[in-house]
Amino acid sequence: MCWMSDFAWKRNQNNMAGEHKRKLQLATIAFWVLLVYIIAALFWWALSLQKQNEEIYQLQKTHLLSIKSQNDSFYQQRLQVIEEEKRRNISKYIGEGSTFLLLILVGAVFIYRSVRRQFRLQRQQQNFVMAVTHELKTPIAVSRLNLETMLKYQLDETKKNKFLQMTLQETLRLDTLINNILISSQLDGNAYKISKEDIDLSSLAGDVAHQFSNRYPDRPLQANIQKEIEFVGDPLLLKLLVSNLLENANKYSPKEKPIELKLAQHGGEVDLEVNDEGEGIPDDEKKKVFEKFYRIGSEQTRRTQGTGLGLYLCKKIAADHSGTIQVKNNQPQGSKFIVQFPV
Ligand code: ADP
Repeated sequence: MCWMSDFAWKRNQNNMAGEHKRKLQLATIAFWVLLVYIIAALFWWALSLQKQNEEIYQLQKTHLLSIKSQNDSFYQQRLQVIEEEKRRNISKYIGEGSTFLLLILVGAVFIYRSVRRQFRLQRQQQNFVMAVTHELKTPIAVSRLNLETMLKYQLDETKKNKFLQMTLQETLRLDTLINNILISSQLDGNAYKISKEDIDLSSLAGDVAHQFSNRYPDRPLQANIQKEIEFVGDPLLLKLLVSNLLENANKYSPKEKPIELKLAQHGGEVDLEVNDEGEGIPDDEKKKVFEKFYRIGSEQTRRTQGTGLGLYLCKKIAADHSGTIQVKNNQPQGSKFIVQFPV
């Protein structure tokens, strides 16, 4: 049905993941070999210097011994001086050597982390490009097929409506995706001028919930929205925030499980919550999911498609309205996304 089958897409993703893994392994091996070599060279340098120091000391001592009989007090004085010099040299080598070692280790940790981050970002960006291409083509292909079918066959009203509904859903999916891509790149490049309008946040959230229910009529959605919450912000961005959270709740929880959208004002704060009963998000991923292009799991284990932009955008939108976003565990299961805005 779609331009590239899910199987071919997955296979491409797997090939890319394999290629990246190999590159990362090579880089890691080169890094460790270089680090071991540098540290070994440092120790070698320290040992050579110490050996040289010892030789100079022995030479000076032998020379002193050869003149000792003529002047004993001079011998004692000189011996103390060369022993002191030898000790000073040893302390100098230890001090300088440890400083070098420390600098090398700090530098190595820094480079190691930067390279890994760079590889991860590169992989996520490639995945993103592939995912976007795939996600753009799929709704277009589905819509085209639906329209062609409707043109070709005389369908009864019910079937026609079903095809139209499906096409509408795909168009909306495309719209959300394109909005996410465009707005995140505009926000990143400071090209989006955030408007500050007086909004009825309750109506805005209600509208998004309504659109969501139209789009997924079979999904139970409980909208507990306190009435007439006034807010100053950008309506387009705020709609995108609510709809991204609802879309995710829909995508990452079983179809029959309810989703809850809550909006309430508590004193000087507005709380927006989207709760689902899906698998939830492990504790060590709770911060990472808000990073750009980040998606949990690997290409092999992931069952859903996406771009890793949705939550990044939610965090940015919340921050642009002086708010915060966090994810907690929902009870008894699932995720609870909480956005808090000051008013
Ligand atoms: P996308 O959904 O396009 O992958 P997002 O930025 O919206 O990107 O989400 C990042 C990741 O966070 C997702 O890949 C998914 O693993 C995880 N995630 C987001 N929302 C939920 C949720 N409601 N339940 C479980 N996991 C979620």
